[in-house]
Amino acid sequence: MHAVIAAAEVAERLHVVNSRIASAGGVGVRVVAVTKTWGLDAVRAAAAAGCEAIGENYAQELVAKLTGESDLPSVHFIGRLQTNKVRLVAPLVSVYETVDRISLATEIARRAPGARVLVQVSADRDPAKGGCALGDVAALVEQCRALGLDTAGLMTVGPTDGGPETARPGFRAVRAAVDVLGLTVCSMGMSDDLEVAVAEGSTQVRIGSALFGLRPPTS
Ligand SMILES: *Cc1c(COP(=O)(O)O)cnc(C)c1O
Repeated sequence: MHAVIAAAEVAERLHVVNSRIASAGGVGVRVVAVTKTWGLDAVRAAAAAGCEAIGENYAQELVAKLTGESDLPSVHFIGRLQTNKVRLVAPLVSVYETVDRISLATEIARRAPGARVLVQVSADRDPAKGGCALGDVAALVEQCRALGLDTAGLMTVGPTDGGPETARPGFRAVRAAVDVLGLTVCSMGMSDDLEVAVAEGSTQVRIGSALFGLRPPTS
């Protein structure tokens, strides 16, 4: 958490992101500003630019950055979440985007009853990114609903190498699952693949580097 972010620059970059979304045919696509590794100034800059939501990946970082702050945008947890960290982040998080197993859903229901969740799908079966198999999504969505969670949609992370086109089949499959399951939110697309995601029906993109620049190295 360092590097000072210029709010005007973030606003300008958000404008570019919104133009890219519009060029890809997106209407009403929400931008979650991914502020992981950046400080509170990035959160404030995103909010001032008009982002209604931020995305954070790391429980400890999120708690250190946001505890005690008021007037925050809606906080989305978008990283891998250990069950024993749910308690820590629950006072700050509005949407849990990475629910990929029943044990995690159960703990969220216990610590944040009725919380809004997305089920994370691993369309390319890359274990490093988390997410459940497409074949398991329906059952997990059902279990989340049974736990009383506000189960709004699905989230996926596209392949990080091979270029944006490699993400297309996975994005298409995830959007199809959103429709089949009667869900509304489809969280897919990042700085490098947002056009493909939007063209395939994303309703929410998660954007870090295109807003804030390259992240400083962690640790
Ligand atoms: C870091 C991250 C993003 C943002 O990635 P950029 O390429 O910087 O836009 C989006 N989603 C998840 C799950 C991430 O971890």
